[in-house]
Amino acid sequence: MLLAALLALQAPDNPDWSAPYPPFHIAANVYWVGSKDLGAYLIATPKGHILINSNLKTSPPQIQKSVEQLGFRFKDIKILLISHAHFDHCAGSAEILRKTKARYMVMAEDAKEIEDGGRSDFQYGQDKDMYFEPAKVARVLHDNDKVTLGGTTLTAHVTPGHTPGCTTWTLKAGTKNVVIVGSPNVNPGYKLVNNPTYPNIAKDYERTFRTLKALPCDIFLGAHGSYFDMTDKIKTKNFTDPKGYRAYVLRTEQNFKNELKKQTKT
Ligand SMILES: [Zn+2]
Repeated sequence: MLLAALLALQAPDNPDWSAPYPPFHIAANVYWVGSKDLGAYLIATPKGHILINSNLKTSPPQIQKSVEQLGFRFKDIKILLISHAHFDHCAGSAEILRKTKARYMVMAEDAKEIEDGGRSDFQYGQDKDMYFEPAKVARVLHDNDKVTLGGTTLTAHVTPGHTPGCTTWTLKAGTKNVVIVGSPNVNPGYKLVNNPTYPNIAKDYERTFRTLKALPCDIFLGAHGSYFDMTDKIKTKNFTDPKGYRAYVLRTEQNFKNELKKQTKT
């Protein structure tokens, strides 16, 4: 029992991560092709498509089905991007790359971990349950790099802390600013003070909150649907929520500050 509970702690999993969810249109050429809680976004262009996040090892068939249900071809995916190098956002990448021949573009500070399947993760590197199939990175990205396809340009913002190369993606949907948050969350067990495997972690989180506050946001999206209450917003199909974005950034920043304060004291 104790061992099972311990293992459950080590391999955070949530039934909503694998629960299928019908794909839907968000705005302009942006679509949800993820599960009930794992964000996967299709950016459809006349020159092929961009997919953000491959999710779990078991997710690629779900994502493919969603893409096809929307009337697009899975093999027209030309570029694969991720929110960050954790198995719930990138474990399906190797399979999707095999099926689509897409180019995998990953932020520099997460690229090594993508290519070693999670073994170099600062927190979970010794934890086999967190490993994923390694995949080859075709283009290494840096802060503010652009990814362009068929008239759509996305900007990669490094928002580090959760992982060193955690990426928040922005793009325009018509006149609206879309922000896809990578993750500002401090996971259970993260050491923010005297962390030998990630010495600058607290400074990195502070940078992330500065960056997130500075981004103009109309349409608020993220690596998990729960960041922006996807299952509520789908009822009105209105994802424009600048206030919700601000509140989310301030709330997650407060969580970080509280945890930092607690760890600084002890
Ligand atoms: Zn994560």
